[in-house]
Amino acid sequence: MTPGPAPAEKCIFCDIVAGRAPAYKVYEDEQTVAFLDLFPLTRGHTLVIPKRHGARLTDYAPEELAAVLRTLETMCRRAERLAPDYNVGLNAGATAGQIVFHLHFHLIPRYGESNPFRSTGRKRLGDDEAGNVVAELSAR
Ligand code: 5GP
Ligand code: ZN
Repeated sequence: MTPGPAPAEKCIFCDIVAGRAPAYKVYEDEQTVAFLDLFPLTRGHTLVIPKRHGARLTDYAPEELAAVLRTLETMCRRAERLAPDYNVGLNAGATAGQIVFHLHFHLIPRYGESNPFRSTGRKRLGDDEAGNVVAELSAR
């Protein structure tokens, strides 16, 4: 493990990793977690993160990034159960739209909607809606 930033005092994703904050987790292993975005751009919008805190890609060693990429690939395969097409995104820094400063990849299934990448009008994920998609995305 390479040195990197210590866990942020208030990091919502570290809280999710530690189980201090709730999340709809769909995958977990020793080094990574995937869970549903609380304000999904499309149905099944998933975030894939390393458990160890770091703000951005360059805070991690190649082997840590390999673990994240393996999980991202697993989740892409599972997302194909929802829709064959998807976007994978990474926002690095406030200017690029990063709001949560713990590395995460967005996996956004696409269903033919014209532009899901809008910053306004995003609705908080409800339990009913999440339950269904969690079942589809957590099955191995
Ligand atoms: P960013 O703009 O930093 O790339 O994306 C952060 C993402 O985290 C946003 O899509 C936002 O909806 C999501 N998010 C923010 N707070 C929470 C939370 O407490 N739980 C979950 N599951 N997602 C969150
Ligand atoms: Zn964190």
